[in-house]
Amino acid sequence: MSRLRADAAGASRTCPHCRAVILASAAACPACRGHLQYAAPVGPAAARSTPLQVEATLQRAPGEAPVEYTMLLSIRDERGVELSRHVVGVGALRANQQRHFRLTVEAAEVDSGGR
Ligand SMILES: [Zn+2]
Repeated sequence: MSRLRADAAGASRTCPHCRAVILASAAACPACRGHLQYAAPVGPAAARSTPLQVEATLQRAPGEAPVEYTMLLSIRDERGVELSRHVVGVGALRANQQRHFRLTVEAAEVDSGGR
């Protein structure tokens, strides 16, 4: 994957497979993992990183009452303005059940054009 130009940074499109809104530069959809036709041209590899990854497992012990859960995701900017807020999933957790939750933020360097 080539480096992105700064003026194209953050551009989005809709995955043709699952309709998720994804980065225009994505070579594969992070939601359905489908490969995309309009991948960025081959060039110098962009510096990619995972600046945030959080995982946790919730479980209910035998005999514990069921609980309902909501996995909520929000993104705020430097002023605290909420840019995005989504309910990722809901469900119930009963005795002897568990759910594993993972949040990952992936990042790719953008070509600043010498600035
Ligand atoms: Zn998809």
